[in-house]
Amino acid sequence: MRRDKVLRFLITALAVGGFVGLICGLAFGGGGTATPRSVANAASTTTPSTVQTEGTSLPGQPMTAERARTIGANEMGQVLVIMYHLFDTTEGTWTRTPDNFRKDIALLKAEGFYPINVRDLASGNIDIPAGKSPVVLTFDDSSPGQYRILDDGSLDPDCAVGILQAAVQAGGWAARASFFPLLDVTPKERVLWGQPDRKQEKLRNLVEWGYEVGSHTITHLNLKTASTALAVSQLAESQTTLQNLIGGGYKVTSLSVPYGVYPSNEDILKSGTDKNGNAYGYDAAVSIAERVCASPFSGDFNPYHIPRIRGSANYIVDAIQKFKDHPGLRYVSDGDPTTVSAPKDLDPALGTLKADLGRPVIRY
Ligand SMILES: [Zn+2]
Repeated sequence: MRRDKVLRFLITALAVGGFVGLICGLAFGGGGTATPRSVANAASTTTPSTVQTEGTSLPGQPMTAERARTIGANEMGQVLVIMYHLFDTTEGTWTRTPDNFRKDIALLKAEGFYPINVRDLASGNIDIPAGKSPVVLTFDDSSPGQYRILDDGSLDPDCAVGILQAAVQAGGWAARASFFPLLDVTPKERVLWGQPDRKQEKLRNLVEWGYEVGSHTITHLNLKTASTALAVSQLAESQTTLQNLIGGGYKVTSLSVPYGVYPSNEDILKSGTDKNGNAYGYDAAVSIAERVCASPFSGDFNPYHIPRIRGSANYIVDAIQKFKDHPGLRYVSDGDPTTVSAPKDLDPALGTLKADLGRPVIRY
């Protein structure tokens, strides 16, 4: 993100428009310290759909009501958050086949969606091209089909991460999704994707490429039936363990609540200290609920109850169809993550704009 800000500043300072922005993006992407996220962003700016939308969203230019209207921006609209578990050859309630997952991404791309991480949704830092709608892909339980490294050290093209990376390479998609692995569970193959000698490499790759790693507790703990002391200790230990494995100052800030079951005292999700004095904190929690999520700029948004729909059967198709039937409900980005743009006349189902957003609001 910092690199994006530097990029924006440079473009503003030079005042030479989108073409140089593209060159700068490629230059940053090609540098020795380039992260795959910036490479992915640079790659995505070369796709025709993104270049088209840049005409209405030139970096460095202030957003105006006129431009927001031209884009059809509605950043009070609802956001699709999708939950995946197992990946295997037979489709099931909690299992997606590799081919169906490829189709999911192709459909989301074709329908104008663009990925963000859970933490981006929670913080309202939705940095996607103008005219696109955010989608959050989440992966619980770290089963082997989510992330498999083959014997020759290459990424399995049929695992979920392999399919995501192929989508990034193809353009119009970024390396963003949120993974919620388990650290000690039976079957052991669901501990950090089942290749013990590869666990640290996988965690670091995900983060380096631009994906998010969050906590799903240590053992898939039921936070309602467990004692508060045990719940607190797993919330603290899972965060610390993941951060230590990933290194580099990475902060785990999102939680996937196991079984979608909340503790009776939800405050323990936000912050706490375990009996050994280890403090922890989470800024967001994803749950299970078959509905789309309120905009982070709506008073209806609760970062600790982010609802997710199931990434199987027709749930995704149905959610997209609902947006087609009710286009006023869909989040559409103005392309500028520093402003919030929305029509004056909003569907009441979207709630009301929060008063304390701390960023410019454009109504049209
Ligand atoms: Zn789970």
